[in-house]
Amino acid sequence: MPEGPSVRKFHHLTSPFVGQQVVKTGGSSKKLNPASFQSLWFQDTQVHGKKLFLRFDPDEETKSPSNNPLPEPLQKGERKKEAGDLKQTSGPESQNISDQCSQSGSGDNSSECLGGDSPAGGAQRWLQVSFGLFGSVWVNEFSRAKKANKRGDWRDPIPRLVLHFSSGGFLAFYNCQMSWSSSPVVQPTSDILSEKFHRGQALEALGQEQPVCYTLLDQRCFSGLGNIIKNEALYRAGIHPLSLGSLLSPRQLEVLVDQVVEFSTDWLQGKFQGRQNHTQIYQKEQCPTGHQVRREAFGPPGGFQRLTWWCPQCQPRLPPDEPEQAQLS
Ligand SMILES: [Zn+2]
Repeated sequence: MPEGPSVRKFHHLTSPFVGQQVVKTGGSSKKLNPASFQSLWFQDTQVHGKKLFLRFDPDEETKSPSNNPLPEPLQKGERKKEAGDLKQTSGPESQNISDQCSQSGSGDNSSECLGGDSPAGGAQRWLQVSFGLFGSVWVNEFSRAKKANKRGDWRDPIPRLVLHFSSGGFLAFYNCQMSWSSSPVVQPTSDILSEKFHRGQALEALGQEQPVCYTLLDQRCFSGLGNIIKNEALYRAGIHPLSLGSLLSPRQLEVLVDQVVEFSTDWLQGKFQGRQNHTQIYQKEQCPTGHQVRREAFGPPGGFQRLTWWCPQCQPRLPPDEPEQAQLS
């Protein structure tokens, strides 16, 4: 499942095509209509957290009101509504977290609306790509079946969108959710791989009175952080996933943020050096010290429950007299 480092790699893969025109299209997406990309110019690509943004502009010479393949420009005020929708993606249960994160300085004031000053104004020219659990981008080759399906067929995955460019190369998008937006609404201060990542804001979010493993996966607080980074950072910091942030010392929270950034950065570097990402606890039976690892699904009540691996010895629970301890023995 693509986390921040993987999406940054996808961004890197799409960059060489910037400045080129789409000459042929394909793909199974019904929502987007791949044919509508025909003749558009791929003008820019940006990565924010786990999202990839691709900007497409029509060919100015062929553009006319009747054959403009892009949706009508947004009305004033639409952008604000859009930002509001984004905040609701994790469900009403996480509203509390949302408020906390906004308080810690990542409010609307610090978000950046990129591309808003371009001649295109509010037109929806940014394709927003989310990768969910299994999304991917392929360059100049198609994904092939790795195994037969239940009926024994070796059927290759079908890309949602294929864009062939004037250079002769192509991009194929698999299992992505894609939609048009007027501009990438981003908060680089919460992006764990951004130079603008704000430690103080991250520390404040983690210090809430809720399990740290919930806060880490909240994309409004830790954009780009996924389940692998969550498990690895918690293990390396020696913190139990269900520890309430409010009970951890400032030093422990600092160490946790350090581990998040260190592991993510190292993973990203490894991707460019062809190095395998080595996990110590994620999907392991034993921790590096040889202790038995535990595995359970954790998530906010009513929210997405994510499998979590932890070592009861290396990551003791705080406070130690919680009911779960009784179950353990
Ligand atoms: Zn251990």
